[in-house]
Amino acid sequence: MSTDALVLDDVTLTYGSATAVFGLSLTVGAGEAVGILGRNGAGKTTTLRGILGSGVRRKGSIRYFGEEIGGMRADQVARKGIGWVPDDRRIYTTLTVRENLLLASRERSGPAKEAVDEAVAAVPLVEKLLPRKGVQLSGGEQQAVAIARAVVGRPKVLLLDEPAEGLAPIIVESLQQSVIELSRSGMTILIAEQNLNFVLGATQRVCVLDSGREVLTCSSEEFGNSPELQNQHLAIS
Ligand code: ATP
Repeated sequence: MSTDALVLDDVTLTYGSATAVFGLSLTVGAGEAVGILGRNGAGKTTTLRGILGSGVRRKGSIRYFGEEIGGMRADQVARKGIGWVPDDRRIYTTLTVRENLLLASRERSGPAKEAVDEAVAAVPLVEKLLPRKGVQLSGGEQQAVAIARAVVGRPKVLLLDEPAEGLAPIIVESLQQSVIELSRSGMTILIAEQNLNFVLGATQRVCVLDSGREVLTCSSEEFGNSPELQNQHLAIS
């Protein structure tokens, strides 16, 4: 089996006749955490959609632990072990948080309680929310539940789409800690995010996109230590 969790090779992603990502090549090692950075509209979300096979047309090769998944549907990709935390969270608002997690646990074997316990251990913010209905949750709480729900599926690779967007700093910090712990436990992580601190604290490498093209891939440390690189690639002119 390949030791690379994801290998994107010359991947082009289109919506109808509009190309959003041009010839992207990116490798994510097993157990590695990588951030996708870029200004608004750079193609971060589209890249995750391309890997998942959801809502975007793909050209090029996407391999998951050596297996080509570029032609698979999103449900097939998910069953392979790729978890997805969408930016709009998609919590069932009429169900409680516990019920949301139990629903997700139907996809896996073993006791449902174990699944909920695992999710709570991974995302401690969720514990006090278990009896609450989805509709009663703040944006940050919904995000915590969305990550916990993905963990229930025991993914080998977790794709997070803008997990910090619009959230209070204290929640962002707690969710970042959860992602760091998941990464430490061996999960491969790919985060599309505009919040630079979130990405730099949770990843080992970053890939920067600009207008759908990769313009830089380097260590998170190098990017974090270089105001010049940040200015060049992320500042709004
Ligand atoms: P943001 O941080 O603003 O979400 P992003 O880097 O995630 O930006 P994408 O959402 O991937 O960027 O968008 C990349 C390009 O694709 C943009 O030009 C956007 O307008 C376009 N796009 C995104 N979704 C669709 C869609 N469903 N149909 C058509 N074009 C789309």
